[in-house]
Formats: sequence, C-alpha cells, structure tokens
Amino acid sequence: LRKAVIAGNWKMNKTPAEAKELIEGIKPLVAGAGCDVVVCVPYVDLATALEATAGTNIGVGAENCHWEVSGAYTGEISANMLTAMGVKYVIIGHSERRTYFGETDVTVNKRVRAALDSGLTVILCVGEYLEQREQGITAELVAMQTKIALQGVSKDELSRVIIAYEPVWAIGTGKTATAEQANEVCAIIRETVKGLYDEAAANAMTIQYGGSMNAKNAAELLAQPDVDGGLIGGASLKPADFAEIVKAAT
Ligand code: 13P
Repeated sequence: LRKAVIAGNWKMNKTPAEAKELIEGIKPLVAGAGCDVVVCVPYVDLATALEATAGTNIGVGAENCHWEVSGAYTGEISANMLTAMGVKYVIIGHSERRTYFGETDVTVNKRVRAALDSGLTVILCVGEYLEQREQGITAELVAMQTKIALQGVSKDELSRVIIAYEPVWAIGTGKTATAEQANEVCAIIRETVKGLYDEAAANAMTIQYGGSMNAKNAAELLAQPDVDGGLIGGASLKPADFAEIVKAAT
C-alpha cells in the first residue's frame, strides 16, 4: 500500500565525471524497478545527474538546502535553486549535518518548510546516538525530532515527506540495526505521525531505514512491515550493490 523508496546518499563523493560514470552504471540495473529510485548527490553533480537520468526511472536529489530563498548566505544553496534546476528531492537533517555542521531540530524544521514551499520532496532524517540508545531514550528522542521537524507542515504536504530512520551508530560503521530494531523505531515514527495528523497520514507515510544497509542485509530489513525503503550511503556508490537493494525492495 505504501510506496517503497530506495535512495542513495552519495555524501561528499564523486566529481561530475565520476557521477556520470556511476549513474550510467546504475541505470540499466534499476530500469523497470518496482520501487522509486533516487540518487542524492553533491550540489556540483546535480546538473550531470539530471542530464544522465533524463527519461529514466531515477529521481535526483540534493543533500541539503537553506531555508531562505536568496540573500547574503555565503556557501548556501536555496530550495528554489534546486527546483529551478529540476531537482525533485532533498535530504534534510542528516546526522552528519547535525553532528558536524551545527544543525538543530529548529534549523531542520526551517529547511523542511522551505523545501516543501518550493515543491521538493523531503527525505527527513532522524535517529539516535549510541549513548542515547543505551540510556533508553531512543523512542522519546526520535519522536521529538519528528515532531519538531514537521512543525507547520500540513497534512497535504505530508505526501512530499519521507522519513528516514538512521541510527547514528549504524551509519558507515558496518553495524546494522537488527531488522527488529529498525522496525521498532520506524513504527514509533509512524505512531508519532499518527498522533500529529491521523491514521491515514501515518499509514501513507514512507519510512526508510538507513545505516549500513547493503546487498546482503537489505531483504531482511525491507521485509519488516514498517520499513518502506532505505537510505543508502556506502553501498549506493557501487552499482551492483545498489541494484541488489533496489531489487530487494520490489
Ligand atoms: P551507510 O549506508 O554508509 O552506513 O550510510 C547511511 C547513511 O547515512 C545514508 O544517509
């Protein structure tokens, strides 16, 4: 009933020439996929990615955007600039943004608002640090992140919001959450959406898992009832691995 979405997050990898090569590698392997396929790439690769994916089933996303439309914000890129290029998706609130670049729940909310205003689909990331899991506050924390990020978002706009549960301890570590852990927190996020909106909105929401998802573990994670897709880092840089994950989602 829900749309499965497999999205690659390339992070700070690939020059434009390398981006073209990677997309050319992915394209034939995911053609005809039964799920939505997205690649989120560095800003400088967007033009190349849009050109290389034109007429295919691969959507293109950015990895962040600013909340203002334009102005004196050196180094930033606005949501409007992305939509003007033809970009359809944007990742907001990735834990690397929160950890290394001072993103807070409040700035995440501002970026979500701006992205939705400009017509983008948001991939909103939430997730706990290992210490928070050990303290037993994962549920509370993830619910709080979700609530603040969605402040001012209407029920209609929710169709352009995907939530990615990414436990920080599983990102780039090779340490994947178990399928049960992933499903448990995705279900908590769905309950939170239900509390904020209603049951129909919660049931329609695509909730991804991210964190060391790969060709081997994808099928088990994606088989969970509340896991509707994946946000893939490392494995999205390898066409065969990424295609395996796409296949597991369909
Ligand atoms: P890895 O798949 O490399 O663990 O990264 C996950 C992630 O952060 C996707 O946004």
